Amino acid sequence: MDERAALLDEIAHEMRETARWTGRTTLSPRVADALAKVKREAFVAPGTEPAAYENRPLPIGHGQTISQPFVVALMTELLDLQPAERVLEVGTGSGYQTAMLAEIADRVYSIEVIPELAERAAVALSSQGYANVELRTGDGGLGWPEQAPFDAIIVTAAAPDVPRALLDQLRPGGRMMIPVGPRHGDQELLLISKNAVGIGVRRSVLPVAFVPLTGGGRG
Ligand code: SAM
Repeated sequence: MDERAALLDEIAHEMRETARWTGRTTLSPRVADALAKVKREAFVAPGTEPAAYENRPLPIGHGQTISQPFVVALMTELLDLQPAERVLEVGTGSGYQTAMLAEIADRVYSIEVIPELAERAAVALSSQGYANVELRTGDGGLGWPEQAPFDAIIVTAAAPDVPRALLDQLRPGGRMMIPVGPRHGDQELLLISKNAVGIGVRRSVLPVAFVPLTGGGRG
């Protein structure tokens, strides 16, 4: 079995192992297909390609990481993205999660606060042919008001609480995945479903360890 197939196997195993907390035993075909298709080696930092198919985060410079493939798969799964939907990502990082979203959704809007990472992700995404992605450099905690409302929002850095601006920019019926908690402490991955009257209903999914969300809009 090659290393990529082994990673997919390991993620499938981890899905089963965590099902009692996540509520999902398997990945949907859309997410599994995207995971099999997106080349993680195109998004990792130069020199770390040999580790691209290990199920762990890797450094991408500037104190940041490309997320663990299982976490990327799980967050994408729980967003329940539909092909016609528009999604906002806060924390482009390497662009790997962005590519996963671009495989499934109609349009992806992604914000990164570190300009050098945003530039590198733009190059990687365009080299992989993703034309349905728009990138912006800035504080993603403030969202992207000109493009709101979004069907789904994914935040890939941990906030002290759910940023108000992001909840406001989620449409009724929309879903948000966000790690919440202190900088170096107990963080939980939350799934927030915004109901028809605009109230966000929270469900805690798993304990996680993410780099912190920076900036004034972090909640
Ligand atoms: N999904 C990314 C990946 O797989 O490469 C995750 C990258 S890393 C875990 C989180 C990213 O969030 C970092 O690149 C960091 O610079 C970015 N970030 C932190 N605070 C931010 C903010 N306020 N606005 C936008 N991006 C932010």
